[in-house]
Amino acid sequence: MNTIVAQSTPMIASAIAVIRLSGDSAYSLARRVFSGFRDASKPRTAYYGTLDAGSVKDDCIAVYFKGPHSYTGEDVVEIYCHGSVAVSSAIIEKFIAMGARMAERGEFTRRAFENGKMDLTESEAVIDLINAQSEAEARSAYGQLGGALSRTITALQQEVTTLIAKLEAAIDYPEEDVEELTAGAIKQEVGALHRALDNLKSTYRAGKIMRDGVRVVIVGKPNAGKSMLMNRLLGYERSIVTENAGTTRDYVEESFLIKDMRFCLIDTAGVRDADDKAEKIGVERSLDMMKSADIVLSLAEAGGEYALPADERFILLENKIDILAAQNAHSIKISALTGAGIDSLTEALYIKAKSLTAACSGGINNLRHLQAVEEAIAGVTRAEEAIEKMLPPDLISDDLMSVYRALGSVTGITTSDKIVGEIFSRFCVGK
Ligand code: GDP
Repeated sequence: MNTIVAQSTPMIASAIAVIRLSGDSAYSLARRVFSGFRDASKPRTAYYGTLDAGSVKDDCIAVYFKGPHSYTGEDVVEIYCHGSVAVSSAIIEKFIAMGARMAERGEFTRRAFENGKMDLTESEAVIDLINAQSEAEARSAYGQLGGALSRTITALQQEVTTLIAKLEAAIDYPEEDVEELTAGAIKQEVGALHRALDNLKSTYRAGKIMRDGVRVVIVGKPNAGKSMLMNRLLGYERSIVTENAGTTRDYVEESFLIKDMRFCLIDTAGVRDADDKAEKIGVERSLDMMKSADIVLSLAEAGGEYALPADERFILLENKIDILAAQNAHSIKISALTGAGIDSLTEALYIKAKSLTAACSGGINNLRHLQAVEEAIAGVTRAEEAIEKMLPPDLISDDLMSVYRALGSVTGITTSDKIVGEIFSRFCVGK
């Protein structure tokens, strides 16, 4: 039996629970236990009736989506019952007793992918949208769900296909003058493709921020007030604030929102030479954290002369302005204790975060995408080398084929049939 069943809403007491069935028997199974469905119930219409699960009955609403016009592309039935765990469990058990199978994790979306309702980037966007914790994250996931990244990938694949088609035509019909194929022209087009792939790769950072939040690391000497600043930004006591240097041995990480953006704030152990072993590990970690940060808040007691590394991720903060006088023109002056200057700090964080994520729509946002794009770049680099060495066109074509496949692994659309079809449809060589 290929019909699967699962509860789509959380298994907790609630007003309504949604149970979903997908597969060939979805409708016939539901029809047997739900009085609201008639022999010819109309798809996409809500029906009211009693669902008899044997041990338990409930008044429900149910909707039948006839494939392929459904989420999974198969016949789907959605049942809206009262959100009691006892009721929904009894209904699911009833369907299983009748031959349905409990769905595996993500199986509805997997079927949607397998039935061509969405590609891999869109499937990932479903998860990202469910997990979004800020409005910006939700917007970004929604863009990807609407195929923003798929369109970027498809356009690039189209360029690769055109190139391959030209090369193949030159190989198969060398005597034909199919679109003047000089080495220079090919080199130029492959170079443009390389730049486009580099551009796509460079969207990763912004995309990752839109998905996981902005990583903000607070660094500074012990007692500068890092833990107190963290608590101030989060609005509650998270780090342990003490008067002894070196108390934040490990690091603590928490997220908070500024307007529509999510920030992951990381308080590191004081960056200084540590003798104590546990503290040493903390210090090493904090250096690592700094490397992976999107923004580094360099915190110091007000009053000293501070220079920042030439790295635009850094923001200099002079703390304790309630008792000390700040000295640096380029710093943001704050008091973690009284909250003075914190508004300017959150504004600065927001502006920086916005600039980091500008123009990330249609870009990549997870490691799987990044690896695929890097593989595509490796392929195009090999193609460029092959051109440079004046290797035969079929070798260049093979390299480009690997670019096409690598790109296709992002969307899950790798069918080389498509390329083959394209080759023969584009070039009407006519002989
Ligand atoms: P950390 O070692 O950098 O995490 O520093 P803490 O947050 O533990 O703070 C060290 C000490 O500085 C504590 O005694 C805090 O109360 C104090 N402190 C932190 N920020 C301020 C501030 O803005 N003003 C004043 N007066 N004291 C502060």
